[in-house]
Amino acid sequence: MKKLAFFDAKPYDKIWFEKLKGDYGFEFKYFENKLNADSAVTAKGYDGVVIFVNDTADKKTLEVLYENGISVIALRCAGYNNVDFSAAFGKIHVVRVPAYSPYAVAEHAAALLLTLNRKVHRAYNRTREYNFSLSGLTGFDLHGKTVGVVGTGKIGQVFIDICRGFGMKVLAFDPYPNEGRGIDYVSFEKLCQKSDIISLHCPLTPSTRHMINKDSLSSMKDGVYLINTSRGAMIDSEALLEAIKAQKVGGAGLDVYEEESDLFFEDYSGSIIQDEILARLISMPNVIVTSHQAFLTNEALFNIAKITLENLKEFYNGEGLSNEICYQCQKQGKCVKTKNTRCF
Ligand code: NAD
Repeated sequence: MKKLAFFDAKPYDKIWFEKLKGDYGFEFKYFENKLNADSAVTAKGYDGVVIFVNDTADKKTLEVLYENGISVIALRCAGYNNVDFSAAFGKIHVVRVPAYSPYAVAEHAAALLLTLNRKVHRAYNRTREYNFSLSGLTGFDLHGKTVGVVGTGKIGQVFIDICRGFGMKVLAFDPYPNEGRGIDYVSFEKLCQKSDIISLHCPLTPSTRHMINKDSLSSMKDGVYLINTSRGAMIDSEALLEAIKAQKVGGAGLDVYEEESDLFFEDYSGSIIQDEILARLISMPNVIVTSHQAFLTNEALFNIAKITLENLKEFYNGEGLSNEICYQCQKQGKCVKTKNTRCF
């Protein structure tokens, strides 16, 4: 029986892994703490490691894991910006769940937009105190507005379909356009200038880090709404805060935050938050922060567990790894891996 160290474990993670593990013959030890260079040694004696978005698999962590006999890391998520792939290459195979429910994330992006625009978060608080005033709750029709979608992969496309359902005009930017879906692709600069709402759906890479910054924000329409369900560091949070204070940005729906890893997924309601930018953002009436919950549907949790277990089964059976990823994969066409082989 293969024993796996499962980091950053939460009750909702365990449900499907516990239900399905019997079919695969795996045993899980659930660690509530996150993986990092200090905690990596706890993986000693295990056959593999299962991690999530805010675990750290940097060079130092990978060295400790490798020294302790770990040869596979299973990411139970799609994004992989927390892994140093060049340090892992040739030593530790990294598998992920490339898609588990694009609907979950796209629908959450839509929920943030609708809530922000129609001030549902404020109305909810008011009526709980029998305050039935409508002052300050005016929104705008989404119908006829222009939404700019950055990244038209699996999630971006579902979000586009949702927006089209509302009668919105869609502009998109993606360096690898998805032709044949009738999407109106424009440059990132034009998208910023023309959109009433901008929603981010691309991975965090060196080229997308802080793509929403002082310059791009200044080129946007006054009162633009920003929705981010991708990765926090795509937005320079300080620049966003300034743009909100200057009323350049009319609303921001943030499911992710660039400094989220020390905070999100935990209860700090009895603590003093030291992150001044996050605290100020949360204090704004036109900002909604959710703590990286866009993926959190029953369907997504089932698929995450099932695909992670399949990935591990392929690894231990010595088969090709359908969902392996390495730094060569990220350079289009450079990886030797085919559908039925491994990256190394
Ligand atoms: P995907 O790989 O299907 O699509 C990503 C798209 O982004 C691709 O079309 C790609 O060409 C495009 N892209 C790459 N570089 C770009 C750039 N510089 N500018 C614009 N577009 C670029 O991925 P997906 O499944 O649609 O997921 C998108 C992102 O959503 C993930 O990378 C992840 O960070 C995030 N995500 C968040 C949650 C959550 O719970 N908040 C859950 C899942 C995924």
